[in-house]
Amino acid sequence: LAGVELAREAEVEFLRGLKLASQHRSTTVSSVDFAGVHVTFEMCCPDAARSLLGHLSHIPRSGTAGLTAEVICAACAESLRLTIPWVWSDGQYSGEKLSSHVDPHINAVVIYERETLVTTIVLGGLAPDDFDRRDVARSILSIILEPLGLFQLHAATLGDQENCVLLANKSGSGKTSLTVAGVREGLSTVGDDFLAVNARDSLPFVYSLFSTARLHTSSYAWTGAVGQTLDVDMKYQFDLNNVRSSAVVVSQLVRAIVVPSIGDRTSLHECSWREVMQALMPSSIRVSKYPKDLIYVVERLFAGLPSFQLVVGSDVGMALQHVKKLAGVEESGT
Ligand SMILES: [Zn+2]
Repeated sequence: LAGVELAREAEVEFLRGLKLASQHRSTTVSSVDFAGVHVTFEMCCPDAARSLLGHLSHIPRSGTAGLTAEVICAACAESLRLTIPWVWSDGQYSGEKLSSHVDPHINAVVIYERETLVTTIVLGGLAPDDFDRRDVARSILSIILEPLGLFQLHAATLGDQENCVLLANKSGSGKTSLTVAGVREGLSTVGDDFLAVNARDSLPFVYSLFSTARLHTSSYAWTGAVGQTLDVDMKYQFDLNNVRSSAVVVSQLVRAIVVPSIGDRTSLHECSWREVMQALMPSSIRVSKYPKDLIYVVERLFAGLPSFQLVVGSDVGMALQHVKKLAGVEESGT
């Protein structure tokens, strides 16, 4: 009983601290739409805001009600003396006014306030600059979006404004290289690495989260364009809309699934749903707090689609022809 009392007191104490902290800092507020869900970001400082929001696709507001996400970097949490009362030592806490857990991927304390639907993410060891890392952005988005039924898939797409193929395979399979090559050839995408699916959809739609892409300088799609930054995985990070203006679209309908790999000569052959799941799932569920729900949504949306293995050889143009045909992209008479 003493433990419960202590936890309640800590809860009240922490909320009071949080309110005090928010009165004393200059928040940077920005609104983003994800798959029709409206999220208002209240960032602790301009540096963190610029770094995190710089990853996100610039999707116009659709006016759907959503939630507020307060993100506080470690530097700000420290300067605000915002200390977390660690009475819930197992990292999980569910109280009257708030519930909380620790996210192991980014060492963050996540607090859901029940009445206001405000999600507060206090980062344990990340300075504003660390928000430049897309894996950090991805973890923050998981925390915010999964309770709303939006899941992140480790996949890319290529197609036109409406239809696409889903490109799914583990890192190093040439997904991003093919996506960048396709974008350069005039194709559209919702992203090169991570995109969103909505548990409420009945058709296989995918939604854009990030407009940034990451490539090794050894990739055939690499051309050494300017204005790019090297990230922690020694890949260059850049915006796909800088490869081709308006290349990133809000959403696409998936017409087929393609599992790309790198080989000598380009070839295409059908593959099983099992092979698709092996390509798609391990890395998709890694950051998810609800992996079973994610698998269920993916099976329901995509299991009926035609699926193929695409070996991408030195004749990349032929691989892109396969992609266009499977996505139902009309040729422009050339
Ligand atoms: Zn900050």
